Amino acid sequence: RLFNEVQELKGNIRVYCRIRPFISGQNEKQSIVDHIGEDELVVANPSKQGRDGLRSFKFNKIFGPTATQVDVYNDIKDFIRSVLDGYNVCIFAYGQTGSGKTYTMCGPNGATTESFGVNYRALNDLFGISSSRASSLTYEIWVQMVEIYNEQVHDLLSTDGCPKKLGITNHSQSKGLAVPDASMFPVKSTSDVMELMEIGLKNRAMGATAMNERSSRSHSVVSIHVRGTDLRSGSSLHGNLHLVDLAGSERVDRSEVTGGRLREAQHINKSLSALGDVIFALAQKSSHVPYRNSKLTQLLQSSLGGQAKTLMFVQLNPDATSFSESLSTLKFAERVS
Ligand code: ADP
Ligand code: MG
Repeated sequence: RLFNEVQELKGNIRVYCRIRPFISGQNEKQSIVDHIGEDELVVANPSKQGRDGLRSFKFNKIFGPTATQVDVYNDIKDFIRSVLDGYNVCIFAYGQTGSGKTYTMCGPNGATTESFGVNYRALNDLFGISSSRASSLTYEIWVQMVEIYNEQVHDLLSTDGCPKKLGITNHSQSKGLAVPDASMFPVKSTSDVMELMEIGLKNRAMGATAMNERSSRSHSVVSIHVRGTDLRSGSSLHGNLHLVDLAGSERVDRSEVTGGRLREAQHINKSLSALGDVIFALAQKSSHVPYRNSKLTQLLQSSLGGQAKTLMFVQLNPDATSFSESLSTLKFAERVS
């Protein structure tokens, strides 16, 4: 269909929008959403009346407040599955703090099978498919988990207490591993993965005074490396899947913060705009893709561009009081899609 043509043009970049529901304490009458179509979102500026306040944005797909985790996963599983065919895939959640990035990628606090996010479903699917192919191919799957905070990469799976700081290697020199020194564990089941994710969460908390605060100001990257070996020929294929819960995109008022807080904000700004620049360059089929401008884009380089597939979830909080942040999120998306 048309979607395939669009994908051709954009080199496998998809942009999905997800609008979270109101949560308790928010006033439902104050929504910025005017209309949700198949691929069009119309938002209403709460301080302007009538048509003047309306703006339309196009996406490959839009998930409204009633969309479930299963609905969302159904529309990305072809991407995830292609990792087992040797593709590199990168999935991001972009948006202001509180817009549902972690909900989409991981699930809510204390998630259950029903509410688990993309991470869990993706791994479950990878294990399921790899075992269904076991008569002709064997797959090995490894997991790494890092955090980028203030342009420094930390290993979230280090078991010796304090998360180590790590360097990024040019991927061509390190068997496709961008962070070769980050702990890497083989996994055989989703319960193996859940254990690792728990370590990751603990390490993330350890480096911070207030966990939520820190998690909204760092990028967390779960990297899944897959090697499939053909039992007959012995030839092998490699695929990587990066699942990225980005730092909150909210703009910080320079007049209100100083010192460490200002530096954090500048690092976040710089890396999110570097990511936007890379995706924009890829979407434009530009000959120069500026990967070197941030740790995030360096780390993900092998999964952005070329044959790789990229998916961005643009997350929105429907509350009218967040309108200006939502608008800037939508403008970011407009530029890359
Ligand atoms: P972020 O990671 O962008 O800061 P969260 O994922 O923590 O945002 O979401 C903020 C709050 O909204 C959390 O309480 C989360 O459980 C809830 N939430 C987000 N998206 C949804 C959704 N689609 N359905 C139900 N609750 C959601
Ligand atoms: Mg979060």
